[in-house]
Amino acid sequence: MPPNDLIPILDTTLASIKPGEPIHDDTFHQLRVLFPESLVLAAFDIVDRKNVMKYTTSWGRVFYQVIGSSVTYSVQPDLGHSPNVRFYCTCPAFSYTVLLAESYFMCKHILAVVLAEQLNECTDRPSNPNDIANLVAR
Ligand SMILES: [Zn+2]
Repeated sequence: MPPNDLIPILDTTLASIKPGEPIHDDTFHQLRVLFPESLVLAAFDIVDRKNVMKYTTSWGRVFYQVIGSSVTYSVQPDLGHSPNVRFYCTCPAFSYTVLLAESYFMCKHILAVVLAEQLNECTDRPSNPNDIANLVAR
């Protein structure tokens, strides 16, 4: 199934997740249909560790960073109307398994960001010009 066909299914699955409520078994099941179980568990682990950072600029632009075990990755969970690439992450897995092999349609970092947004578990960071410069330079 082309990745873009999976996005509405993912959106429906995410919509069933409510902040402050336990994740329903059906939701886990749907996520495991869309992604390998290890990727789903890794994404929830990132959310549990509060490793999703959200930066909002004074002009309303939103950036995300996910703190990995040794490297921090920049994530764009929604590139708007780009027809081919709807998400972006700076991790190697995104380049290899999503863009080149097309074996998955998002990496664990992007899934963690969309889950964290849905669960209201992003760590909001005030963004100053240095942060933005770092994000742009990645
Ligand atoms: Zn990634």
